[in-house]
Amino acid sequence: MSALAVPRSLYDLLPAEVDELVAELGLPKFRANQLLQALYHEFPASLADVRQLPLDARAAISERYALASASEVRSVVSDDGNTTKLLLRMADGTLIETVLMQYPASPPAPLHTVEKGASERHPRSTVCVSTQAGCAMGCVFCATGQMGFERNLNAGEIVAQVMHVAKLLKTRGEHVTNIVFMGMGEPLANYAETVRAVRILTDPRAFGLGQRHITISTVGIVRGIDRLAAEGLQVGLAISLHAPNEALRQRLVPTAGPHSVQEIVSAAKRYFKATGRRVSFEYALIAGENDSSETARELVKLLRGTPTHVNLIPVNPTAGGYQRPARPNVLAFEKVLLDAGINCTVRVEKGSEISAACGQLRTDERNAIISLDEISSLPVAPRHGHRQARPSPAPSQSR
Ligand code: SAH
Ligand code: SF4
Repeated sequence: MSALAVPRSLYDLLPAEVDELVAELGLPKFRANQLLQALYHEFPASLADVRQLPLDARAAISERYALASASEVRSVVSDDGNTTKLLLRMADGTLIETVLMQYPASPPAPLHTVEKGASERHPRSTVCVSTQAGCAMGCVFCATGQMGFERNLNAGEIVAQVMHVAKLLKTRGEHVTNIVFMGMGEPLANYAETVRAVRILTDPRAFGLGQRHITISTVGIVRGIDRLAAEGLQVGLAISLHAPNEALRQRLVPTAGPHSVQEIVSAAKRYFKATGRRVSFEYALIAGENDSSETARELVKLLRGTPTHVNLIPVNPTAGGYQRPARPNVLAFEKVLLDAGINCTVRVEKGSEISAACGQLRTDERNAIISLDEISSLPVAPRHGHRQARPSPAPSQSR
């Protein structure tokens, strides 16, 4: 099926546009809220399931719009059950990755306590969404970057990822509490659709998540950061910095050319000033590349005086052959930052954890994470020695 043949999804519409649609069809105004209620709270499989609307209204809407959602090709659950990686197919066949990351209540409940409610078991359920199939930015350590750019996702396709996970969570009596734009692709290189998706996901008449519960991660597109700062949104921003100087950054993020690290840090400061939201910096720690104490000190110099938080992410090894530093080196890097008064955490990666970097569709020996080869329609080198991800079980059995 070609992308052109796919009708626009109802999940692509802002509530105000649903109002317009209802008016154009000559339906009473309240039908818009009925449709929105069904779309965002009842998870209909098709318009036929939206029984609040009269048959002729459903027919008229389906002549113009589809209720296209994402269909699940595979799901892979981490050993501890807290992370679910999903391979989703869009209406035109494009395959993308979405991740559900859940955080158990801590400390763990003693065995003798009464059974906890679902939301107490997982006070946070974060969906990591993709904004593009593939990515043009080409970061050398990133599996998505290495597959190249396939296409932008539209807002409806971004929203559909959240709805898919929300439906899965509902079967467990849980719900989406946070959304991070950290899956495949560069959100600010697909600016309009990213912002439209944020507006749909946070509109009280649509999905209704609080803006502060959304974080957008960017490789550091300065113009996009400034545009986002002016949107009047309260979303969090994470900038993937990875290096404190031009030469190193250029090596790791080959498309970084136009923006110096100093310009990126200045944009972060402007974002903070405009929104009141502190910007965090992501720093993928790569053995022998950007993990020396000297580099840490350079990072301190660059970030001193910037209200920020640094997330150190020991890199997930991918095809590029980059390795994560030994634990003592990670801790030594962290200590340099902490000693200089810079907020900093190392993203914990226990053996079975698969959440460290969504967008990295790679195979993990222990958890049989979906491999890049399976999601990419681009020719990629065959991989060996990896177990296949298991086919998707029914949502109720997926944990
Ligand atoms: N394009 C955006 C968002 C998607 S990438 C961005 O780059 O920020 C989400 C995060 O995963 C980024 O911080 C990215 O640097 C990180 N990442 C990519 N590949 C990784 C890997 N192999 N190991 C650890 N983190 C990785
Ligand atoms: Fe794209 Fe982000 Fe991967 Fe870089 S890290 S290639 S910007 S998805």
